[in-house]
Amino acid sequence: MATDRLRILHVASEAAPLVKTGGLADVAGALPKALCAIGHDARVAIPGYRSALRAAERHGITWGHDPLVIEAGGVDHRIGVGTVVLDGLTFHILACNELFDRDGIYGPGAGIDYDDNPRRFAVFSKASLALSGYLRWTPHVIHAHDWQAGLVPALRERGFGRVLPATRTVFSIHNIAYQGACEGDAMRLAGFDPWLYNPMHLEHFGRFNPLKAGIVFADRVTAVSRTYAQEIQTQEFGYTLDAVARHHAYKLDGIVNGIDTLEWDPATDPHLPAHFDAANLAGKAACTAALRRECGLADHPGSCVVGVVSRLVEQKGIDLILATVEPYILAGRMQLIVLGSGDLALEHRLHHLASRHPGWVYAWYGYNEGLAHRIIAGSDALLVPSRYEPCGLTQLYAKRYGTLPIVRHTGGLADTVTDVAVGPGAGNGFTFGPVDLGHFSSVLDRALGLYQHFPQEWKAAQLRAMADDHSWHGVARQYEDVYRSLSFAGAREDKALTKPYAMVTAKKRG
Ligand code: ADP
Repeated sequence: MATDRLRILHVASEAAPLVKTGGLADVAGALPKALCAIGHDARVAIPGYRSALRAAERHGITWGHDPLVIEAGGVDHRIGVGTVVLDGLTFHILACNELFDRDGIYGPGAGIDYDDNPRRFAVFSKASLALSGYLRWTPHVIHAHDWQAGLVPALRERGFGRVLPATRTVFSIHNIAYQGACEGDAMRLAGFDPWLYNPMHLEHFGRFNPLKAGIVFADRVTAVSRTYAQEIQTQEFGYTLDAVARHHAYKLDGIVNGIDTLEWDPATDPHLPAHFDAANLAGKAACTAALRRECGLADHPGSCVVGVVSRLVEQKGIDLILATVEPYILAGRMQLIVLGSGDLALEHRLHHLASRHPGWVYAWYGYNEGLAHRIIAGSDALLVPSRYEPCGLTQLYAKRYGTLPIVRHTGGLADTVTDVAVGPGAGNGFTFGPVDLGHFSSVLDRALGLYQHFPQEWKAAQLRAMADDHSWHGVARQYEDVYRSLSFAGAREDKALTKPYAMVTAKKRG
């Protein structure tokens, strides 16, 4: 059968711009769009959360005539299938009042999960598979993301729906720390045979584990960077799934995420007071001066402006920054600007640091898109000392804006930042290895030293950073290679399976 143009259904619990709580949404919104741009028919299925439906309704959602009926643990759920096309990308929104019509996405507040999440995402996973028959659109590949869609490859393999004889599955791990583990009787919701509750399949240390299900049953597995794909096979980074990742390493690859190069473009960024590109960096100096003014920092051009845009949590190594930077600030070598929110104890310590060094340290707590852009553009360097980092985005933005990243050599940071110390004429940032104050101080010393004493070398590193391509276009080609490595033998190129299904245009579900 001709498979030049692949039909690919992405199944994710969030996708930008309809619903976003983290980096998964960026990938689930951007990757299918990039796949469409290279000629494939890629679509996205997401749950119909209240906020997602509101957003979709503003863009003219259409509803299928009849609901899908999905059974879970003896209870039938009626799923409305809404479709909206945004910027050329088709989203199928699976709406179910009793499961998704709530204010929250994963829970009523930060860090609190809804008790019925196993049911919510089991039903979502089943409904995504049933979409094929409902839409009369049979994908070659169903690409499921993270634990919320982890049951999709297992359901497919166990024959759920019986409509996808040749459809293959790909499962992507964005963060292995989140596994959706729950009590074993949740297996009932998906309707798996009880014998699958064993350590080779769906059971993991006495619990049902949807992330493990994705790894075990998918035809191919990807992690969001090459180094992270290796790291999750180790005890340090595997969050107890390292042996599972090792066992399935033969089908595991790492692909670094892309960034939205239109939104993050220093030549056109509407959040910036001045623009620049690699040919003319004058606008960057103007951004730095304006950032100092905006943040109330002293006009001290000899000191390096160092930015942080991050969740304030232990994973991100914020404690290392707090424990290390003061001597450099007192010596007039660096000014620190932090934008973030999270752990209150870390916010408290940052607040104290800033109040001890007015004019040298500035911190803003909360989410602020515009300030994030201005910090990335106006800083000389960006700190990302994460303990682990599956991919990381801020270092990619920083590179594009000629802001040298100072990062821990881990996960996607290791794949995208090369230390200038590798040799003359190479490198686009600074990296350190072990998470301790000694190694972090020494990388800061090196970075500040280069900034102060070797401006030509600094500029050369900036230009190398800016020249790197992190667009989704290149990333989509790598996923295409993964899809093409699968065999679609037996797939039906049946017109009846690809014709558009009947839709009604309506404001309300009908
Ligand atoms: P993670 O997904 O682990 O938080 P990433 O680096 O992959 O880390 O992505 C973080 C994203 O969130 C980036 O786009 C970053 O610019 C943005 N971000 C983080 N904190 C803030 C904040 N306080 N205000 C604005 N944007 C933020």
